[in-house]
Amino acid sequence: MQSHIIIIGECAEGHIAPVTFELIAFARILQQHITPDAGIHLFLAGRHLADAASRLAQTEGADITLLEMDAPKAAAGTAPIDLIFKNPPMDRIRRLNPVYVCAGHTPNGADIAPALAVALNAACVTGVERVVSDGQRLHFIRSVFNDKITTAILPIVKTAVLTVTPGIFKSEHTAKMDKTGTVSVLTLSIEEACYTFHGFEKTDADTSALSHADVIVSAGNGVKKQEYLENIYQLSRLFPKSAVAGSRPVCDRKWLTYSQQVGVTGATVKPKLYIACGISGASQHTAGMRDSRFIVAINTDPHAAIFNIADVCIIEDLTTFIPRFIARALATTETGE
Ligand SMILES: Cc1cc2nc3c(=O)[nH]c(=O)nc-3n(C[C@H](O)[C@H](O)[C@H](O)COP(=O)(O)OP(=O)(O)OC[C@H]3O[C@@H](n4cnc5c(N)ncnc54)[C@H](O)[C@@H]3O)c2cc1C
Repeated sequence: MQSHIIIIGECAEGHIAPVTFELIAFARILQQHITPDAGIHLFLAGRHLADAASRLAQTEGADITLLEMDAPKAAAGTAPIDLIFKNPPMDRIRRLNPVYVCAGHTPNGADIAPALAVALNAACVTGVERVVSDGQRLHFIRSVFNDKITTAILPIVKTAVLTVTPGIFKSEHTAKMDKTGTVSVLTLSIEEACYTFHGFEKTDADTSALSHADVIVSAGNGVKKQEYLENIYQLSRLFPKSAVAGSRPVCDRKWLTYSQQVGVTGATVKPKLYIACGISGASQHTAGMRDSRFIVAINTDPHAAIFNIADVCIIEDLTTFIPRFIARALATTETGE
């Protein structure tokens, strides 16, 4: 019997979201481990996605089930995902009897994965960052305890629902597929009475300053007080073509704008130098900056996960280290040392 891998893709405003391509790349890794014949089936919910889906079927070779929502007031991808994955999509998923069901480790994935696992009597492994084979079975590696420790999880039932951390499994658009996938459409009528779509609200998140910067100085929770951000700005001004960024808690507190947030729900950056100040190194943050050319991290905790990817690890209190560093740098500039 053929093995099957199912991907729950994501769309945003009529476009296929980048995490979907990463999930395809991840599914290919699973496919290599199980058997190269394993079928890859992508479920995509939204409206007006037919063209994008058929391009994807050609370039990625996946069989796609398009879940078209017959709800005039619904915008693409806005119906609650638990409504979308009621029957009949669930019947189709059950018929495929999948070995793995893969969703993004995103708010959508977090909504659907546990429900799917219950419906399929499957294991549920969240936040997968790596796959390791012991020769017979696949173990899924994820970070725990604020990313200080990694753990390997071995599902012991036939099916596992996995949520995959964005930013880790890169899509290989250039890969040559030996087959073109198919696209089939399931029209779903979503009862509008159960939800109200209020429309999209665009954020002012213009991340262009970050994408053009050679040096990014990034502030995390360790900054503790808003006034300490002045040190971060001063540090960044030491470098030409620099910008200030931050982790999500700092942006949630409105100390920085969301256009400055780095991570899975913020910008992905690859500067020449990334200076992480008081950032623990949660996978949701590092997914957005781990490809920086050179990473310096300042943190009081010698076990902080950010040090695992840093090129230079400074175990110091940023409130004393950064002012001293700035003073020294300015003194050096003045004396021309
Ligand atoms: C679906 C989802 C999406 C997310 N998306 C993002 C995202 O896009 N970007 C993002 O950043 N996060 C994101 N998060 C949140 C993420 O999981 C972490 O909670 C967040 O990154 C932690 O931010 P932090 O490292 O600044 O704070 P903390 O984890 O609180 O770490 C603060 C660090 O500062 C250090 N510290 C404390 N005091 C000092 C000091 N005086 N000097 C030096 N170091 C000090 C501490 O040792 C600690 O390591 C997301 C979470 C979820 C669930």
